[in-house]
Amino acid sequence: MSQIGTHELAKYPFLAEAGEYLRNAGLSLDHLGHSDWQPIVEKAYGRIVVATSGQIYDSQRFEKIDYDADEIDMEVLSFIVAIILLKSTNINTLARRFSLSEARRAEKHLENDLKQNKKVNFSLKIIQELFSIQVKVDNDEFLMSVPAYVQRAVHFHEKEWKLVNRRVSNGFVYLNAHETVRLIRTELGEYINSRIKSLDLPPLPESFVQRVNDLVELAKKFSETTYISSEYPPCVKHGIEVLEKGENLPHSGRFLLATYLLSKGQTVDQIAPLFKNAPDYNERTTKYQLEHISGSSGSGTKYQCPSCEKLRSESLCFATPDCDGIINPVQFGKKRKNP
Ligand code: SF4
Repeated sequence: MSQIGTHELAKYPFLAEAGEYLRNAGLSLDHLGHSDWQPIVEKAYGRIVVATSGQIYDSQRFEKIDYDADEIDMEVLSFIVAIILLKSTNINTLARRFSLSEARRAEKHLENDLKQNKKVNFSLKIIQELFSIQVKVDNDEFLMSVPAYVQRAVHFHEKEWKLVNRRVSNGFVYLNAHETVRLIRTELGEYINSRIKSLDLPPLPESFVQRVNDLVELAKKFSETTYISSEYPPCVKHGIEVLEKGENLPHSGRFLLATYLLSKGQTVDQIAPLFKNAPDYNERTTKYQLEHISGSSGSGTKYQCPSCEKLRSESLCFATPDCDGIINPVQFGKKRKNP
């Protein structure tokens, strides 16, 4: 990516240019075990702990305009050491939770940058180069092509994301800065996770070992084995398996699990632990959302399980012959017994 400033690297340390910056600054991972690195290791560890708890690291500084030189080094290095620690643990749940939290952090910075005239082009370049999405600017609005929009918005259930509720003109959907970056959160998370997966692990210095062990302990908090009934339809089993692996199930997949299990008589308290492995798990938010879906809070509307057709359109259908032509997952297992 051309013309990237060092301040941008503090905000987006997952960009490939971060490695080049370190080389130019004479900072090398060969010196990882040096005692000077200990504060960086501690910062990296703290960064992971914050991220895996469902918070956003350094969130109080989104409005900060500039970082000084030492801060830039610290931000870039702590990110790199964090992904070394995560790769060393080889625990998918931790890597996923970290990636999603860092994606949300980057999302905030991108949103702020999109609102600033002098930074808007750089932000759009990140979106284009990392995710091949061309976004155009029209005054303070952003235009995304209809296919690119639909591909991403299909995973959101709130009515404001439905294409019929959007302003569309000449094949482009109009968005504000917040909506533009919200649409790419999942891809940002996947990109950061891919950086962890593809990392060539350097020899691990002794001074890192304790923190790797601490992370292994931390991960135990998130492992929750869920009972998957053979009576569940394939789409529901798939959603549960995705969560069990600590991967990110889209909002539409979570909505399916919640509505399906509620329709089978499970309570909010029984369903909530299912989401414990989700990278962005937050107990209070999860319960709040489940109560809203169940109709016990908010408008009192109890949401119904989406149809098979809707789930197919969201790439959430994993039909097997047992589905047997049903039109809603709640019918799974009933039709064959009572034709
Ligand atoms: S056909 Fe329906 S029940 Fe079967 S996997 Fe697809 S969405 Fe689920």
